[in-house]
Amino acid sequence: MLNVMSRSGRTVPILCCDCCGAWIANAGLAAAVYKPAVADEEVGQVFLAHKGGCHDQLEARLGGPAPWLELTKYLEDAMHNSGHSLEDQILNRQEDDEIGRL
Ligand SMILES: [Zn+2]
Repeated sequence: MLNVMSRSGRTVPILCCDCCGAWIANAGLAAAVYKPAVADEEVGQVFLAHKGGCHDQLEARLGGPAPWLELTKYLEDAMHNSGHSLEDQILNRQEDDEIGRL
């Protein structure tokens, strides 16, 4: 799930696990789990989970094994499909580094 967190007087965006609710601090250790959309243009809901126990519990809630993507790949594709390119990210990186990130 998409959330924000207060840190050092700033409000910063974070991703949290839809199973345990905790912050996903390492996207490489998380998955985007979903039920496949069947019809063309149908939109399906995506759930984020820490790999391992949270992923397993989330699949159980969804009724069994479900398709999933590495969270890093999901985020990359979702940003592309939202009109935000890798080049845009690189241009924004310098400004973000000046402001600071978590
Ligand atoms: Zn979790």
